[in-house]
Amino acid sequence: MHFVYSVKMMQSLLSNLDAVRQRIAKATRDCGRPADTVCLLAVSKKFPAQDVQAMAQGGQIDFGENYIQEGVEKIISLKPTNPLLVWHCIGPIQSNKTKWVAENFDWVHSIDRLKIAQRLSEQRPLGLKPLQVCLQVNVDGGASKSGIAPDEVLALAQAVMQLPQLQLRGLMTIPEPADTYELQLHVHQQTKKLFDELKSPLSLQKFDTLSMGMTTDLEAAIHAGATMVRVGTALFGRRDVA
Ligand SMILES: *Cc1c(COP(=O)(O)O)cnc(C)c1O
Repeated sequence: MHFVYSVKMMQSLLSNLDAVRQRIAKATRDCGRPADTVCLLAVSKKFPAQDVQAMAQGGQIDFGENYIQEGVEKIISLKPTNPLLVWHCIGPIQSNKTKWVAENFDWVHSIDRLKIAQRLSEQRPLGLKPLQVCLQVNVDGGASKSGIAPDEVLALAQAVMQLPQLQLRGLMTIPEPADTYELQLHVHQQTKKLFDELKSPLSLQKFDTLSMGMTTDLEAAIHAGATMVRVGTALFGRRDVA
């Protein structure tokens, strides 16, 4: 498709970006946190590189992808014109895909097995900065998703810290959808507590990232202490109609 990317499309993406920024600004204000303590990660899975490019023109820097092959294709196509974008892998990683991730992404949020972490460290090219990683925790015991149990986090964190080409930055979580703000807040607060409890035993210089909150629960996540919210639908639209 080589027709000119429509101005209307571009404007609607930029107005979505503005609206999400305002939600984040309001949520931080409401709980007395400085606005710059929350980073917006734009989840561009299932949307084309052109949409990423439009968001980048609005000043968005961090992008998240779930599917490795799709993500790597986008990274490779956008790198020449947008070398400063920061790419986050937020989906499950099979062993046979670790090399692609290690060579192309800047961050991985979905570490939940030592074997995958070891492969990522071994395969991270030496010329690149260490891969920035978060451990994915299954805080509410949701059966359908990946992530380690809270009581396994410390041991995995201590092992991941030893890997030379990875830098452990924090935790990531995807709670089960909850109907009310109170329920959302409750589960995010549990993750925050776990995150705080790890700080002293790990004593890392930069254990500073709590990746939680999506389109429907970003306010609750920010109130609980999220430092990075991962937003797809509110920015790019609904994925099933894309
Ligand atoms: C898709 C996805 C998101 C974004 O979800 P929305 O509800 O569309 O904002 C965030 N995090 C992960 C891990 C995802 O897979």
